[in-house]
Amino acid sequence: MPGRVLIIDPIATNRILLKVRLAASNYRVLQASTLAEGVSLTGSATPDLIVIDQSLIAADVSALRGLTRAHPCPIVVLTPPEGLSARAQMLAAGAADCLQKPINDALLLARLRSLMRFETTRRETGLRDDTSRALGLAEDGVGFAPQSRVSVVTAGPAQAHEWAQHLRGETSAQVNVLSLDDALDLGDADAVPDLFLLALSDKEDDLHLQAITELRSRAATRSAAIIAVTPQDAPVTAAMALDLGADDVTSCPFDAAEIGLRITTQLRHKHRADQLRATVQHGLQAAVTDPLTGLFNRRYALAHLKQIAERAAEEGAPYAVMILDIDRFKLVNDSHGHAAGDSVLRALSSCLSDNLRSVDMVARLGGEEFVIALPDTGETQARIVAERLRQLVCDMPVVVDAKTTLRISVSIGLTISLPEVTECADPNDLLEQADMALYGAKDNGRNQVIMSPNAA
Ligand code: GH3
Ligand code: MG
Ligand code: MG
Repeated sequence: MPGRVLIIDPIATNRILLKVRLAASNYRVLQASTLAEGVSLTGSATPDLIVIDQSLIAADVSALRGLTRAHPCPIVVLTPPEGLSARAQMLAAGAADCLQKPINDALLLARLRSLMRFETTRRETGLRDDTSRALGLAEDGVGFAPQSRVSVVTAGPAQAHEWAQHLRGETSAQVNVLSLDDALDLGDADAVPDLFLLALSDKEDDLHLQAITELRSRAATRSAAIIAVTPQDAPVTAAMALDLGADDVTSCPFDAAEIGLRITTQLRHKHRADQLRATVQHGLQAAVTDPLTGLFNRRYALAHLKQIAERAAEEGAPYAVMILDIDRFKLVNDSHGHAAGDSVLRALSSCLSDNLRSVDMVARLGGEEFVIALPDTGETQARIVAERLRQLVCDMPVVVDAKTTLRISVSIGLTISLPEVTECADPNDLLEQADMALYGAKDNGRNQVIMSPNAA
C-alpha cells in the first residue's frame, strides 16, 4: 500500500538511508532537516505519515502536536538505542509509536503498513460519519459508553495477574485475566472484552501469535482491539503480530504506564468504530421504518412484496395482498386533534401486527393506509383473515386521553395471486387491484372487506 512518508531528521545520511528503505517498498518520501521545515511540509504536502528523529523534539515534546495541527496524520518517533524509557512520554505527547534505533527493517515496514491501514480506515469512517450526519442519521450524544473491558492473555496465569494488577492503576477500564483457550472460546453471548493484551513469545510456532488471526476471524471478537507485547529485542515477532492484525505492539520490559496509554488510545478508536457501526445499523433501520408507528414503510413494503412474489412463483403457492384504510379518519383529526389521530394510527398498527403471523408483513403505505401481505395464503383463508382484522379494529377502543375513548373502522381491499393464473405477478399490479377493491368497499358504505374481481 504506497503512501507518502515525511522523514524529519537533522542528519542527511540517516534521511537518505531511511529513504532508500522506504522507496524500495514503494513509499513516496519527503524530507525535512528541521522541525520548522517539517511543519511547513506537513501543511503543503499532506503526508500520510511522519517519521521524526527524537533529537528534534527532545527539548520540547509538545512540538509533536504542532507538527500535525495543519494536517492530522500518525507520527512515528525514532528513539536512540537507550531510549526505551522515553516511550511513554512520546506516546503521551501524541506519537503513534516509537521505534528504537538501530531500526529493524521488517518492524519499521510492518509498523508503517499497520498505521497506513488504520489511517485509511479512519478517513473512510470519517467520511461515512459525515454522510450519516448529512442524512440526519447520526445521533449526537449516543455518548454513554459502558465501562470498557481489557483481558490480559499471557502464557501463565501468574504473569497475567501481575500485569493486570499493574494496569489497574493506569486505565479506567476493567482489567481481567483470560487463558488463551477461554479467549478463543468466547461467543456472542459472553462478555467479550473490548481489548486483548496478548503476550507473545519469540518462538516461531507461538500459539498466541496464531491466536491474533483467530481472534480477528471470529464474529464475537472481530471488533476487539489487540495489543501484542513481545519479548525484548524480538522485532520480527512484532512485525508478524502487526501484519497478522494486531492494532498495536510494544515490547518488554513491561511498562504499565506506557501500556496504559496504548490501551487508552486503542479503546478510543474502538469506541469510535463501535459508535459508527451502530449509527449505520440505526440508519439502515430508519430507512425502512415508519417513525410514527414503528411499522415498515412503503419502500420496504414494495421490496418485500417482490420477494414474496418471487418465492410464491418458485414454490407454486398463492399469496394474498390487502390494503386497509381507516374510515373517515379526517373526522378524527378534525374533532379530536392531530395527536389523537396519531394515537389511532399507533393503536391500529399494534392491533394489526399483534394479530398476524410472523411471516406476514404489515407496513404503512402512507397517511392512514396500510398494506398487508400474507404468503402462502389462498382466497378462503385470506377472506377469513381480512374479516377477522376488520372485526378486531371495530371492537378496539382507542384511549386518547382520560376523557376520550374513540372507536374506528376500516375498509379493506383484498386480492390474491394464484400461481396457475400468473407465473410471477408484478406486486404493483396486485397493489392496484387491492386499491380498486378498497374503493369498492368505501363506495359500498365502508367498514367492510371487498375482494378484487381480478383475483382468483
Ligand atoms: P375515507 O373513509 O374515505 O378514507 O375518509 P378519510 O377521512 O379517512 O380520508 P381522507 O383521505 O379524506 O383523509 C385522510 C386523513 O388522514 C387526512 C390527513 O390529515 C390524515 N392523516 C394522514 N397522515 C396522518 C398522520 O400521520 N397523522 C394524523 N393524525 N393524520 C394523518
Ligand atoms: Mg381513510
Ligand atoms: Mg386514505
